[in-house]
Amino acid sequence: MNYISTRGTAPVVGFEEALLAGLARDGGLYVPEAWPVLSPEKIKSLEGAPYETVALEVLRPFVGGVDMDALKGMIDTAYAGFGHRAVAPLVQVDAQNWVLELFHGPTLAFKDLAMQLIGLLFDHVLQARDERVTIVGATSGDTGSAAIEAFRGKARADVFILFPHGRISEVQRRQMTTPTEANVYAIAVEGDFDDCQALVKAMFNDFEFRDSMRLGAINSINWTRVLAQIVYYATSSLALGGTGRRIDYSVPTGNFGDIFAGYVAREMGFAVGDLIIATNENDILHRTVQTGRYEIEGVTQTLTPSMDIQVSSNFERLLFDLADREGAAVAQMMDELKTTRTMSLPQGMQDRLRAGFGSARVERATTVKTIQQTRAATGMTLDPHSAVGLAAAYQKARPGTPMVTLATAHPAKFPDAVREAIGEETPLPERMGDLYERPERMTILPNDLTAIETFIRKEAAS
Ligand SMILES: *Cc1c(COP(=O)(O)O)cnc(C)c1O
Repeated sequence: MNYISTRGTAPVVGFEEALLAGLARDGGLYVPEAWPVLSPEKIKSLEGAPYETVALEVLRPFVGGVDMDALKGMIDTAYAGFGHRAVAPLVQVDAQNWVLELFHGPTLAFKDLAMQLIGLLFDHVLQARDERVTIVGATSGDTGSAAIEAFRGKARADVFILFPHGRISEVQRRQMTTPTEANVYAIAVEGDFDDCQALVKAMFNDFEFRDSMRLGAINSINWTRVLAQIVYYATSSLALGGTGRRIDYSVPTGNFGDIFAGYVAREMGFAVGDLIIATNENDILHRTVQTGRYEIEGVTQTLTPSMDIQVSSNFERLLFDLADREGAAVAQMMDELKTTRTMSLPQGMQDRLRAGFGSARVERATTVKTIQQTRAATGMTLDPHSAVGLAAAYQKARPGTPMVTLATAHPAKFPDAVREAIGEETPLPERMGDLYERPERMTILPNDLTAIETFIRKEAAS
């Protein structure tokens, strides 16, 4: 499979380049040249198969150049440490609703499902090429911990994660500061998340630094993250509907990566029905579905920090399809967005968007109430992100169609919101019960590009 850019002018690359590069050189995102479609017989043959088996068949058409036995080994290794044998178990909430638990990985959020595999893929590809990379990323919490957990101890990568000093939860911080391996670095920046992101961007734009350090990116625009997330739409739709009936999904959405994976699963032939974009008060995507205008506003702090973003970077991948894969049209729209902070979707694109996606905006009070009511009715404790998803599911459910809400984080990861809702916290899973006792290791640096680059140069060389 070859990969092309959503903006149409970057050179076509193979899977390995798309994996290592992240962003295309024309500023666009890599997408496969065409969506592979699995035959109904093939899909039927996967009913009842373990997660790892489905993963291999979903990934197979996308990963040209990677040996299939090696890929199978990487998939087995990636999910062996998960806290549930099913990897991503489905739990029934009521007659129509299920929750897909995506939080059984090492950092208790769904990002582990992709990141654990990406760490192994990077190592495999870099080994074959005899190369090394320096991975830099900014995080408001979940991405950074998942990346550090995925790359700790890997021979061919150093990982530097920038996070805003004092502005992430204690669980999130400790997940980044307690790994002991020498190749991972947690950097507390004296600034906010936007400062961290701006620093990372500046490092990538400093071409001397970028080339000499061989910078790599694993942020949510890396195609491989979307790719690995297709698998759990496949396993859950097979479990509930097989090939016989379509299943709707409600997805707590920030950068549009997770829900875009559902779109790809549907394109590949899995029985995915409506995809509901569930947003918090930062509702740019909900407004876009309703009005056809994508308008950037200020970010509000909410109970669900992993969804507090303005610009959903992966939405560009959907725009590309909505625009009949015309890169020039997407480039023009993204230019418009950059200069005016809004873009309007032509009527045809709006119609196609609404044909495949629903949306709902869920406010704080409803999120809290959903955690309370779910607990009272079922005994299950939802994290606030998953509660946004379930609340949206209740709003958008269609009679007779099963609805799966993606549970994107473990309730122990967001103890403050859970305590606010039900008056108590959920304990951490036993395997990480000593998180609060482990010694922490981090470097506090000023919000200054030179200081950060100097630190990275020195440590990566050591
Ligand atoms: C990252 C994250 C999201 C948003 O996922 P996107 O792929 O950015 O849409 C939702 N919930 C949690 C807990 C997350 O960590």
